[in-house]
Amino acid sequence: MDNWYKAGLAFSCTQCHACCRHDPGYVFLSQVDIEKLSNHLTMTIDAFKKAYCRVVDFGFVTRLSLTETAIFDCIFWKNGCTVYEARPLQCRSYPFWSGNLHAQDRWQEEAQDCPGMNKGTVHTHAVIEAWLSQREKEKLLEG
Ligand code: SF4
Ligand code: SF4
Repeated sequence: MDNWYKAGLAFSCTQCHACCRHDPGYVFLSQVDIEKLSNHLTMTIDAFKKAYCRVVDFGFVTRLSLTETAIFDCIFWKNGCTVYEARPLQCRSYPFWSGNLHAQDRWQEEAQDCPGMNKGTVHTHAVIEAWLSQREKEKLLEG
């Protein structure tokens, strides 16, 4: 990752919820994520997986993801995130994902879909790097 964002990046979520609904997508989960979510919902991990997860097969790798409704809303979206305090790292770390940070052009492209990017609170380089490290550390589950 180069240092084009050395001075930090501005982001304040507007709570538009565009990233939680309407479009097909994946919320990939780590072991820490499912422990937090199942605990939050007072369910066993197995029951949580059965009720809210799906295995996505990319051919070369499989990943565990949250399910979504027939209209492509996240299964936990209902007038807002119903598991906000326990939401997965993928949600908490957005938009500071390696895929959005590898080049400034990529960041600007993503900002066209997220009204919170390039506005509001400036997140320092150290804070951004901490999100990247945490995502690197919490390996995603295969199923
Ligand atoms: S699209 Fe951006 S501003 Fe809207 S809810 Fe998602 S992170 Fe927040
Ligand atoms: S878990 Fe919450 S924050 Fe994450 S996509 Fe679902 S509704 Fe949105």
